[in-house]
Amino acid sequence: MKQSSSLLALLAILSCSACATQHHGRLERKAASALPAGPVARDETARMEQVADGVYVIVHDNATDEWPHGNTGVIVGRETLFVVDSTYLPSRAKADIALIRQVTNKPVRYLMTTHWHFDHNNGASAYRDAFPNVELVAERNTARWIDLNATYWSKMSTAPQSTRRAALTALETTLAAGVDEKGTAFSDTDREARAHVIAQRKAELDDLASLVVLTPTKLFDERLDLDFEGRRIELVNWGPANSPDDSTIYLPKERVLFLGDILVQSPLPFVGACWPIQWVDVLAKLEQIPADVIVPGHGPVLHDFEYARAFREFLETTLVRVEALAREGKTLDEVKATLDLSDVRARVPAWNVDVTADDWTYTVTTLAERAWRAVRGQG
Ligand SMILES: [Zn+2]
Ligand SMILES: [Zn+2]
Repeated sequence: MKQSSSLLALLAILSCSACATQHHGRLERKAASALPAGPVARDETARMEQVADGVYVIVHDNATDEWPHGNTGVIVGRETLFVVDSTYLPSRAKADIALIRQVTNKPVRYLMTTHWHFDHNNGASAYRDAFPNVELVAERNTARWIDLNATYWSKMSTAPQSTRRAALTALETTLAAGVDEKGTAFSDTDREARAHVIAQRKAELDDLASLVVLTPTKLFDERLDLDFEGRRIELVNWGPANSPDDSTIYLPKERVLFLGDILVQSPLPFVGACWPIQWVDVLAKLEQIPADVIVPGHGPVLHDFEYARAFREFLETTLVRVEALAREGKTLDEVKATLDLSDVRARVPAWNVDVTADDWTYTVTTLAERAWRAVRGQG
């Protein structure tokens, strides 16, 4: 492990209490069985559940029809809190803080981001507003990706000519005209759905208009083992998988593993800009970790690696089939049109409920492109 000066500063701040790691078997099982069955706090679009003694997960509805919120983790220490990921919008992060306060009055001392994607850290400013002393923790490159991408975020999202504003205007035009993009008249249900989408996207733009992206300053390289006020927390950067640098957070005593977007069931995985060859290896290693609670970046909390294995097989099958097509000399467009993963899909129940044909096709063609580049040494 490379140790930077900021890492050493972080280590100095975190208190040490190795003796608190001495619980085993019977006590843990007793604590697990005592967990509340339903959410311990909730609001209209989020549910906070306890997954281990003093460890919580907040699962959110999507922010809009296009952008999700990442799951948030809350780890309670003796005096303060360690939070994992801060969602896509500061308004949602603020609402999460209200949920957290229903469970504990302790302040948030550390906010860790699993990777640079905005749906996991745009909400950081809400935590800084509520807890001015909060330390933003990330793997070193992750901080760099957040910093770099923030410079064009406003152009993408809220500038007068942004595609996001244009898309909203187009939706409003169709609603006013009473017909969709194909000229089909809206039913009452369609009109309601379209109005809901527009309301979500307006709220999103309101949030983004005043967004301040914060760059983490407490950085680590590769790995950082913490004693956080009596709890051992292991932060590991696995390198390229879902993003160029994906970090996990593991609590060995509690057997809780936060995976960020290395694993997503929302219900489909997110493969937009991934590194599929490395991703397979990362998943194979993660499956060896003894964990009873597996928290994906999006979607429900899981209790075994069955879904992770199925997802790894999805990536492996994709790579094998795309390589075969590449050896035949197929172009990218031909690969996208030819690749069929319906047999793999059929084996994963979550991918066959509430998944539209468009969503499935988007996932397969997006992954096909990443795999086509990867197997040819270009991505
Ligand atoms: Zn995400
Ligand atoms: Zn992501």
